[in-house]
Amino acid sequence: MTTMLTSDWLLADSLAPDVSDDLLAPLYAAGARHELVLPFCGDCSLPLDLDQQVCDGCGAAEIAWRPVEKAGTVHSVTVMHRREPDLVVASDPYPILDVELASGHRLIMTTHARSESVPRVGDRVTVAFRELGGVPIPSATPAAPRHTVPLTTEARS
Ligand SMILES: [Zn+2]
Repeated sequence: MTTMLTSDWLLADSLAPDVSDDLLAPLYAAGARHELVLPFCGDCSLPLDLDQQVCDGCGAAEIAWRPVEKAGTVHSVTVMHRREPDLVVASDPYPILDVELASGHRLIMTTHARSESVPRVGDRVTVAFRELGGVPIPSATPAAPRHTVPLTTEARS
């Protein structure tokens, strides 16, 4: 087992994006304040993909980054088994989640922390920020404990 100086549970710090010269600079700047901002069309307010430059709805090329609710639902789950010894520090397979946010955006992320269990499609998650080489990266935490059993004994209709 190799010991590596890293702040993240999954990736080596060398994979941190260069925030000074990045389309996603607003995302990282807000993440440092624990806020999630995502791109919308500056004209018609349609939610845009992170790398989208032109709106599908109206054709405008104006992007407005706005704060959104940090709540979403797991749309799909991929479990990554591939290992990259100098880049991926986790030794176990890890989940890659396609999360549908309340804002209408879709974001690809992994879990906030190493997890024994893999989130399931339909799980509600809250967006937090992993820190990768000092850069905040969106990640998912369960919005509520999973596999909970209702404690109430009240009859249900
Ligand atoms: Zn538009």
